Amino acid sequence: MRGKFITFEGIDGSGKSTQLRLIAGDLRVRGFDVLTTLQPGGTPLGRRLREAFLETEENVHPMAELLLFAADRAQHVNFLIKPALAAGRIVISDRYSDATAAYQGAGRGFDEKIIDQVIELATDGLKPDLTVFFDIPIEKAILRTNSRTDDETIKNRMDRETTEFYDRVRKAYLKIAEKEPPRFRVIDANGSIEEVHAKVSEIVNNFLEKD
Ligand code: ADP
Repeated sequence: MRGKFITFEGIDGSGKSTQLRLIAGDLRVRGFDVLTTLQPGGTPLGRRLREAFLETEENVHPMAELLLFAADRAQHVNFLIKPALAAGRIVISDRYSDATAAYQGAGRGFDEKIIDQVIELATDGLKPDLTVFFDIPIEKAILRTNSRTDDETIKNRMDRETTEFYDRVRKAYLKIAEKEPPRFRVIDANGSIEEVHAKVSEIVNNFLEKD
């Protein structure tokens, strides 16, 4: 049986990766075979790409950025996500193609048609079965990322954008939520880690119980 593909989306500091670790831990305890991953950087090539175009001071052209995210995604989909789904695993990815629609579409201003085509090419049409968007006021997300103590967290170019940029990105995510209600779920990520975890658990458990 094909596995399930779940993605977590949100602006940096919304708590996605914290919640991803928690829910994956719960599901593993319950016996589910879970693969957790991220974009960009879910494969060795993806990690090198991430370093090259995100963790750099170099000025990266928006088109180069769009195509490099797509390259990361093609590698990730074909060598990691699809084989894991074929093996019946639950794949949970910290960001996927909705991030391109939000960041490169609304954030950078690429035309929706171009964005859709690039996503289609990179993913070969693979869509998540469930997406959870962690909605949080921009100012709060920025405070959280600034107070990160995690040594592994390297500031990347996307972390240095303006409040207006993140506002456009957030609104783009909310627009997707309006267009795709069964797949795309919005949760208020403003509460404590435990409060948000309870909301994530409810959504994910309901989704998994459906089949
Ligand atoms: P993201 O993956 O969306 O960038 P993280 O999960 O890395 O966000 O969280 C960003 C920072 O905020 C981390 O230092 C994390 O420990 C902290 N954090 C996450 N969720 C909460 C929360 N609900 N309340 C307070 N701090 C949080």
